[in-house]
Amino acid sequence: MNPKSLPFTKDQIVRIAGRHPTPFHIYDEAAIRRNARDLRKAFSWAEGFREYFAVKAAPNPYLLKLFREEGIGADCSSLAELILAERSGLTGEEIMFTSNDTPAGEFVKAREFGAVINLDDISHIDFLDRHAGLPDLLSFRYNPGPLRSGNAIIGTPQDAKYGLTRQQLFEGYGILKERGVRRFGLHTMIASNELDPRYFIATAAMLFDLVAVLSRELDIRFEFVNIGGGIGIPYRPEESPVDLAAVSAGIRDAYDKTIRAGGLDPVRLYMECGRIMTGPYGYLVSTVLHQKHIYKHYVGLDACMANLMRPALYGAYHHLTVLGKEFSPPVRMYDVTGSLCENNDKFAIDRMLPDIEIGDIVVIHDAGAHGHAMGFNYNGKLRSAELLLRAGGETILIRRAETVDDYFATLDFAGLKNFNAED
Ligand SMILES: *Cc1c(COP(=O)(O)O)cnc(C)c1O
Repeated sequence: MNPKSLPFTKDQIVRIAGRHPTPFHIYDEAAIRRNARDLRKAFSWAEGFREYFAVKAAPNPYLLKLFREEGIGADCSSLAELILAERSGLTGEEIMFTSNDTPAGEFVKAREFGAVINLDDISHIDFLDRHAGLPDLLSFRYNPGPLRSGNAIIGTPQDAKYGLTRQQLFEGYGILKERGVRRFGLHTMIASNELDPRYFIATAAMLFDLVAVLSRELDIRFEFVNIGGGIGIPYRPEESPVDLAAVSAGIRDAYDKTIRAGGLDPVRLYMECGRIMTGPYGYLVSTVLHQKHIYKHYVGLDACMANLMRPALYGAYHHLTVLGKEFSPPVRMYDVTGSLCENNDKFAIDRMLPDIEIGDIVVIHDAGAHGHAMGFNYNGKLRSAELLLRAGGETILIRRAETVDDYFATLDFAGLKNFNAED
């Protein structure tokens, strides 16, 4: 169970909306920091433990800077994410580069920044060498294929495009060793939004076992194991957060049994979670524009899929609170929609809510990860602003809302004057 409480009052939001009109995303700095510290504390037994925040979950430099201050790095998968991490003050091995189908220029940039490069395929050894040269530290992303079952969002490992097979790992590290690479890591990422702590313990144990065999067979020493991201959050009020103490204790057991007992100690433990770091601490705040009553009851918000795609994309549940009506009984069944000309542009379907009026403020919970970040401009819809509710109570704008001019910025209307559509 989790209470789905809010870090702000209705009065506060009305005041904020006076300066920054809805819709907007707002992040709770105090809760983000508290959570980051709790995560590091849960793994304090693991010497050199590091979380690399998956930038794609919430690519905002203010959040990255805040995380850096909490001792958290950045996990990047693209040129823009690398540049964002660097411009947020992260350097060298504070940045992990876990990409796939990688353009050469991205490897060049990752090398320039001294980021830890995690290769997605055996053929990328030559590709990286040719375009950027081999660094002295490299890791591979492992795809266990039929050895592990996946989950709904990411699919089964056997069908996933990511990573190397077990066989390729042996060959790959052999090639790296031959080419003079001296420092090694091993990575995997096989779950998404997973709430079962046993999944992550099994993943870590699997990697520790592999490290033991690879170290022995190839006579190399592993510096780190990266268990990826994918720790889920309780989107539904009846769900509970993942017990990180249990995950940590299970991983510690596996570490002692395989790594310590095998004389392979120390191997640093890394993870690259996005969702648990910001997801529960970001809210999409929106105003009711319209109501309509046809075959069903509809509430139309000023937010749409451009601001949060998860419900449309995955049928994902996001909890809704109508501000000021937290304690009113849920008396009517609504579809809560956005304005896109797509019938799946709905934040909730058949949701029992209090009686809603035009002008009510609806808060959409757990929008802090894979929320604003996934937004798109289909139908000419614009992405909203992002605000940060500071630990001290003040609110600052950390990304302004897009304007129509932003939307048109890539079009050449001057050139259009000379474009003769007739021939
Ligand atoms: C998306 C992604 C993550 C983060 O996933 P979460 O579910 O947000 O924790 C981490 N690593 C890689 C390689 C990813 O693609």
